[in-house]
Amino acid sequence: MAEPGEWDNFLLRYPGIIVSGSKARGTVKLNGKWYRLKVVCPHFPKLEEARLELLLPQQVKFTKIKKEDLKAGWTLYDLMEHLPQLQHKYSDTANLSAKSLEITDSNIYSEIAALYAPQDYQLELNDACSLLRFSKFAGYERHYLQVALPTLQITAHSLPDCVPWEEQLQKYENLTAMVQQFRNYLQHLRAFYGNFADIDELCYVVQPKPPVSTKHNWRLFVLRERVFIKLVLSDPFAPIGSMSVQIIGPTQAVEELRRTLSDGLSEWDVELDIHKNLLRIFDICYFPMPPGSGWMEVDGEVNSTEQKFCNICYSYQLEEGEIPIVSCDNPQCTLVYHAACLKEWFNTLTDGMDFLSVSFGTCPFCKTKLSTSFSELLAN
Ligand SMILES: [Zn+2]
Ligand SMILES: [Zn+2]
Repeated sequence: MAEPGEWDNFLLRYPGIIVSGSKARGTVKLNGKWYRLKVVCPHFPKLEEARLELLLPQQVKFTKIKKEDLKAGWTLYDLMEHLPQLQHKYSDTANLSAKSLEITDSNIYSEIAALYAPQDYQLELNDACSLLRFSKFAGYERHYLQVALPTLQITAHSLPDCVPWEEQLQKYENLTAMVQQFRNYLQHLRAFYGNFADIDELCYVVQPKPPVSTKHNWRLFVLRERVFIKLVLSDPFAPIGSMSVQIIGPTQAVEELRRTLSDGLSEWDVELDIHKNLLRIFDICYFPMPPGSGWMEVDGEVNSTEQKFCNICYSYQLEEGEIPIVSCDNPQCTLVYHAACLKEWFNTLTDGMDFLSVSFGTCPFCKTKLSTSFSELLAN
């Protein structure tokens, strides 16, 4: 009889196996393929008096491996390394039935083997068998779900940050149910992602820093020179109901556009996506595109989305992707600033003040009075 502890190294090497006494069973992955086996190994790791059964592809019952196929002097380790050859040999002679594989084992590693569905998603297990990653979901190629094993703790996912998905998904105690629920979510989020798709493709999105990931639930894009739209969909399951559209730019221009927007919102066309509704509301054919995309020339406004650096720090894009979006209200000045830089400047002013989340100060150059809501601009 094997002493307790003797199996430890073996189990470290093959974490998909569970052992009780001299019996071991479970799943191992060799050269990218899965094998399910049952072993009785009373003189571990020697194979004297050992018995091995292997589950062959397309079979429901385990097949016993004959003694003469186990070479003299082999240990259980040698046998594991030869599983591919053994399986190959026995598969050739086995009467292959079309019965599907039946999983009755509650071992998580055999569950993983059963989740193998290359037409639905890509499934990857790291070498230590401690992390499982589902990715490239059919129809949702950018999405992924990563789970630690055997705890089923979610370590990474592609869903929007504004919802506590981990809590939701962690409720499921088995992997199959968890992945199914994740795929249900993807289906329910179609409208959410669909609404951002045209904006990402057909607008000059300046924030979040490109490439925008599937985790962001907001976009800041150019409406016209020095004027930006900030679109936030706070509930991914109800994108239109939870939508907020903000216009950011010089006070005068913004006031006018806000009126246009609020009039337009009352005539929202539910048949159209957000991008098309906004085009209709602002009565334009398209939003400005990024510089160099070749679209601007059509309108004769070649420079309207020219990159203007911040007049406080003299750079364009900050580390987190922020670009200068706060303009001076003085039409003669037209300088732009990063919200963060201007906030710092306001803090140095003796007559600067905050009122109901709006900060008041002056332009560092022309000294015109400025007001802006940093909490909105810096929130994300
Ligand atoms: Zn700056
Ligand atoms: Zn100014």
